[in-house]
Amino acid sequence: MEYRYLGKSGLQVSELSFGSWITFGNQIEDNTSEELMAYAYDHGVNFFDNAEIYANGQSEIVMGKILKKMNWDRTSYVLSSKVYFGDGGKLPNQTGLSRKHIMEACHAALRRLQVDYLDLFFCHRPDKKTPMAETVWAMNHLIQQGKILYWGTSEWSALEIMEAHMVAEKLNLIGPVMEQPQYNMLHRDKVEVEYSKLYTTVGLGTTIWSPLASGLLSPKYIGQFPAGTRLGREELSWLKERSVTEEKLEIVRSLNAIALELNVSLPQLGIKWCQQNQHVSTVILGASKLSQLEENLNTLEVLPSIPDEINERIEAVLQNKPKHPAW
Ligand code: NDP
Repeated sequence: MEYRYLGKSGLQVSELSFGSWITFGNQIEDNTSEELMAYAYDHGVNFFDNAEIYANGQSEIVMGKILKKMNWDRTSYVLSSKVYFGDGGKLPNQTGLSRKHIMEACHAALRRLQVDYLDLFFCHRPDKKTPMAETVWAMNHLIQQGKILYWGTSEWSALEIMEAHMVAEKLNLIGPVMEQPQYNMLHRDKVEVEYSKLYTTVGLGTTIWSPLASGLLSPKYIGQFPAGTRLGREELSWLKERSVTEEKLEIVRSLNAIALELNVSLPQLGIKWCQQNQHVSTVILGASKLSQLEENLNTLEVLPSIPDEINERIEAVLQNKPKHPAW
């Protein structure tokens, strides 16, 4: 496993990391979660991603129990949580980015994860109703208290990230270090265009999510719809509707043919494609089975690089290369 600096910060994260959305405390049994985390850690993964909303806090509870049982050296891994959506309650102040919810969400995450501090704490979405200065102050306060080490954003616009930086600079506070955007072959604009200036101006790091578009970038949806998969879950019917379209499946079939030519699997091609972008600090993997994690973590061994000619063929299939504005 190789490690990359998280933007311009001094923190190093494994190029491939592991997250718990949908799976921990929900889709999979706790012993499978344990098996997956242990496998990831043993294969060099040093960053584990979580959020207050995942399984309404249950995902953090499961991860906390595993961390306690494994008793890994706290200095050997990077742990995150995210605040915004709450852990199930919908009363005023149980969601959003007010000082109150940020403080309470952090304390709840520390309790559930059974750790003294979070390495990374993300604002899971922008909160248009809370003044930016209140959010930046709250994050800065948590850093000064030693409860979080770095803070960042998820699915914020470049403008919102810049506003946070301007507020931080004006008030002599610590600004956001990283953003967690969706990035995969089918979803590229934010990472490749919208944030492109921020990599150099503020040194933005990225911890990208859904590298396989929730499993769509695998051969399994090409034929008969498979049972027991994420896109078949009732609560995610909105995601299935958006993802499993004939147009997208046609792209998946063509990409699968390219992967087979390279003697790798489509998930491996999809993961390598994300990781080859130098603005991606870490690709967060998800898995519901050990066999998936084994395959996905093996990516950089079986496919150390994608030849230029293959990247061009991938672009010809995708037809979605974002256009860069002339700055
Ligand atoms: P992926 O797009 O890689 O989807 C993972 C899912 O795809 C697995 O759970 C599994 O689902 C399927 N899969 C994985 N590997 C394979 C394989 N080799 N062959 C076939 N199917 C496979 O990543 P996620 O969407 O899980 O995102 C990764 C992490 O990013 C999350 O865990 C979370 O930590 C974070 N995230 C953050 C968000 C944010 O808003 N900040 C939003 C979403 C995720 P199954 O077997 O059930 O089909």
